[in-house]
Amino acid sequence: MKSEIIAVGSEMLTPHRQDTNSLYLTQKLNEIGVTVAFKTIVGDRRKDLVNVIRTALGRVDILLLMGGLGPTEDDLTREAVAEALSLTLRRDATQVAALHARAATWRISMPQNNLKQADVLEGATLLPNSNGSAPGQWLDTIFSGYRKLIALLPGPPHECKPLFDTECLPRLREAAPPRAIATRTLKAAMLPESQADKLLAPIYTTYADVETTILAHTGDIQLTLLCAKPTLEAAQQRVDELAGRMEEALEDWLYSSQGDTLEQIVLYYLGLRQATLAVAESCTGGLIAQRITSVPGSSRSFLGGAVVYSDPLKSAFAGVPEDLIAQHGAVSAEVAKALANGIRLRTGATIGLGVTGVAGPTGATESKPVGLVYIAVSEAQKTDCLDRTFRGDRDRIREYAAQQALDLVRRRLM
Ligand code: ATP
Ligand code: MG
Repeated sequence: MKSEIIAVGSEMLTPHRQDTNSLYLTQKLNEIGVTVAFKTIVGDRRKDLVNVIRTALGRVDILLLMGGLGPTEDDLTREAVAEALSLTLRRDATQVAALHARAATWRISMPQNNLKQADVLEGATLLPNSNGSAPGQWLDTIFSGYRKLIALLPGPPHECKPLFDTECLPRLREAAPPRAIATRTLKAAMLPESQADKLLAPIYTTYADVETTILAHTGDIQLTLLCAKPTLEAAQQRVDELAGRMEEALEDWLYSSQGDTLEQIVLYYLGLRQATLAVAESCTGGLIAQRITSVPGSSRSFLGGAVVYSDPLKSAFAGVPEDLIAQHGAVSAEVAKALANGIRLRTGATIGLGVTGVAGPTGATESKPVGLVYIAVSEAQKTDCLDRTFRGDRDRIREYAAQQALDLVRRRLM
């Protein structure tokens, strides 16, 4: 069954507030095999709300509305649902009494407006809200000949989430045919998104029952495969089959088929080889060390390193000869190799990694443009150096450089 989540509130159309409830709801819906086909955010205008609700009724079976159930002028969800479905609203006497009682315990007088929180849609069930004054509503109805399940939930997250869990999920489970969901996450490094799609689209488009999403982030590609079937076995089999074909197509771009991070994989291979790593970072300023040390247990294979931003520190901490820097410049293959070698020898690591580059926006020369980065990996027998010119702002160039460096170490270890 397909669903749509509608977040009601003009504040979520400003730069200051985000609809976060729907992330929670989406996860819970997916767990019971309900797909979220649309998410809509609409301001507190009755006409727009009615419009959005009618559109949703025409394209999904399950509508989850949240927000706009409060007592103020701009809380219009009940009225809008009534108008969209041509239903009447009835003021519920028990709710009116409950509102009065609630006001009494808080020792506040109740404005007339508050009473609209006791308005119930024709045919709806009230969903008790133990964390707030506005109850939710559940409507199981027929619209244009089709069954529609509609929930009205309060907006505040601490009211919306528990109400959804206790009142909506059991009802949805009953209505939705049971389906099990299998997922897999494949990851590839330094593969351009367009190339990934060219490689993979011919494969995944033949699996209509597996939903494939590609997420790209500075040199990292994440492919998520999701399949829903009556049994977990059937879903898992389809996901595994597609994952297998994708793994083949991705060749050595692929670094994980279980969703691991690149730094986790690097540490995994270091551990397998009983090797250790040390880094000398110039333009990445510690980004590589930061990523590696974010993995618990990294101390087993990662010794540490140095942030050698200035030329004197490249010599002092990583043993790069001063005249080498004078001759080739700090951003050069020679210096990158010397950094990798030097840090390896000084720390006693099996593998040394050296990175130097122009992160910009200043510091470029005719022969050394912004984005030019040299990355070297050194082992006792050999030292390799790679140069790349990354595009983007300073942050992006540094992130790319760190990603490329980790990938270079991974490839060396494999
Ligand atoms: P109330 O009775 O508190 O007025 P309500 O159902 O009318 O509840 P809103 O007035 O729309 O809800 O929102 C109340 C608060 O909850 C606001 O701070 C709003 O930013 C937050 N909120 C509303 N919808 C969402 C959402 N989808 N995700 C996260 N926060 C939300
Ligand atoms: Mg409100």
